[in-house]
Amino acid sequence: RTMAGGVSPMTLDEQRERMVQDQLLARGITDERLLAAFRKVPRHRFVPPEFEAQAYTDHPLPIGAGQTISQPYMVALMTGRLGLQGHERVLEIGAGSGYQAAILAELTLEVFSVERVPDLLRAAAERLSALGCLNVHFTAGNGSLGWPQHAPYDAILVTAAAPDVPEPLLAQLADGGTMVLPIGPQEGQMLVEVRKRHGIVTRREVAGCVFVPLVGRHGWPPESVA
Ligand code: SAH
Repeated sequence: RTMAGGVSPMTLDEQRERMVQDQLLARGITDERLLAAFRKVPRHRFVPPEFEAQAYTDHPLPIGAGQTISQPYMVALMTGRLGLQGHERVLEIGAGSGYQAAILAELTLEVFSVERVPDLLRAAAERLSALGCLNVHFTAGNGSLGWPQHAPYDAILVTAAAPDVPEPLLAQLADGGTMVLPIGPQEGQMLVEVRKRHGIVTRREVAGCVFVPLVGRHGWPPESVA
């Protein structure tokens, strides 16, 4: 309570706990390791200063270069589907702000993340090193080609939408591995879980979603993107 008797605003830490309760737990995200990662990673450090007060709201937010940081629930839904135990090597396509990479880094051994926009990549790398997060490796480039040097990956997470599963990513997924990605038209997509077991690839639809386009070969041609 403030002196005037009003309710004092929640601190960012309190807002983060509220996000976990209202947006994740209330919607059925119950994995304790996953929830612990969302409690730990300071999402407000991953948005531009003018959006800090909205960092823990139930929405995607602009991060510059026409790109967005995903809604917290979407990050949790995608990450949960990977079923990480802690020993995996994970490839992320579309580093953006670096938030998803920071969540992954809490849950597994090593994260490799590819970003097409060099300014975003630089900012993401600086954030993670400022937070002492040492198990994420970044590179600039067209992530629809994957990152062949470190393949195969136990899990692959694509945070931009492609017309279909990029063939190089499927090739870089380890046997026994899982890939989660949005597939479909630029206006709206289906989140799909792709598994490779004994060389056989299966797909399962998870939920409708809207992501920015994956640009480049095996994604959308740059001239088709608004
Ligand atoms: N995971 C991010 C959200 C990313 S938004 C986060 O947690 O903040 C999608 C990102 O994919 C954008 O930064 C966009 O620049 C990037 N992107 C689009 N096409 C790409 C490509 N072919 N290779 C790598 N990154 C790409």
